[in-house]
Amino acid sequence: MSGEKPSTRAAEDEKSGSFMPNRREFLKLAGVAGGAGLLAGSAAADPEGSQLTERDLPAEGDRPTIRVVGTGGTIASSQEAAEDGGYSLANQAEAIVAAVPELEYFVNVDFVQVAQKGSSSLLVEDYVAVAKEAMRAEADGVDGVIVTHGTDAIEEDAFFNDLVLDLDIPVAFVGAMRPSDATSADGPANLLTAVRMLTRTEFHLDDEPCGVYVVLNDTIHAARDVTKTWTTKVETFESGPAGPIGYFTDNELVLYREPGSYSANLSHCDLDAVPDMTVPIVTHGAGAESYTLEQAVAGDYHVDGAVVLATGFGGGVSPAITEATEAALEAGIPVARSTRVHWAPLNPGYDDDRTGDIVVMEDLPAWKARLHVMVALTMTGSYPGLSSDLEVVRKTMEDNKYGIAVPAPSTLG
Ligand code: ASP
Repeated sequence: MSGEKPSTRAAEDEKSGSFMPNRREFLKLAGVAGGAGLLAGSAAADPEGSQLTERDLPAEGDRPTIRVVGTGGTIASSQEAAEDGGYSLANQAEAIVAAVPELEYFVNVDFVQVAQKGSSSLLVEDYVAVAKEAMRAEADGVDGVIVTHGTDAIEEDAFFNDLVLDLDIPVAFVGAMRPSDATSADGPANLLTAVRMLTRTEFHLDDEPCGVYVVLNDTIHAARDVTKTWTTKVETFESGPAGPIGYFTDNELVLYREPGSYSANLSHCDLDAVPDMTVPIVTHGAGAESYTLEQAVAGDYHVDGAVVLATGFGGGVSPAITEATEAALEAGIPVARSTRVHWAPLNPGYDDDRTGDIVVMEDLPAWKARLHVMVALTMTGSYPGLSSDLEVVRKTMEDNKYGIAVPAPSTLG
């Protein structure tokens, strides 16, 4: 982090890796600072006349700076502003953070708004805009970035940013399952968790990208692994067998895995070219057709690549998709395969006669695999030795941290 840590809390810094108070202490401070600001998300803290002491608060110049990049989503919504049920995007980034007024005594916060949409309406152009803001934040000397985001596609935007960013500061994507004016709105608590995370030394890595995370419900997930599993519940985000990076209790940060990026480092991509890549997802179903690929092979429709959402470990698909895949590969269209099975990797060695050239996307779900392929397709210039787009996509997957095969430990295989 840039700047010295606050001297008044130096001893605690040594112990905790952060000068932010733990959650219980924070709630206490919030209480004495002006009432129930944190809990009700409304009352402004009042340091004048409160019992906050010099020792509790870092001097203004010592506070790390967090940049909040607003994109919309339920975290920015309220029910009250909606005309006919549902939520309405009522709050810009600044208003979202205002729900946790006490934060201003621990961190400096600045704001930028790149979009104000439900996350399923965000375009790849919007993801690029977020990445550029994160890069700008690093260049400006900011210590960490929070991206406020709708939860429906938060895992896509976070994964995209994890692929294309190589930053010395961590980035936390934060959403909410309940609008800002709901009883027990979760947005303020999630923001506080993200600030606690971003101000920890454990997430400021010296010799590798600091990584992109999704932070909700007290839990820190790696962008690569996280997925939404439940349409409505607050405890919806999971990271499958890889598990979360860690979580916060009131007092502690509990780490299960090393902080950092678990995605391929594709930061040499041509960021501005990514939105121009056309990469459809062709989904298996019983007897499913594959008009998209057939039309692409016939030259009626341009695609730069395709992702087949297949079944099981072997990646089997309907006969029509198998045929269309074979034709697409023969026509020089790179095709990648992911599985519809939650959490499971595809068989890395699977090879049938006809579609053996397909790039196996390990355990990436199709929507993340598609983003990986789109980014990789802008990198052909980075691999002069490779002769085709297909080989470039394959290489970027092989370079991925998770692509390491462990030899079978016994003769039983
Ligand atoms: N519709 C919302 C979105 O923008 C859902 C949410 O944020 O929880 O993804």
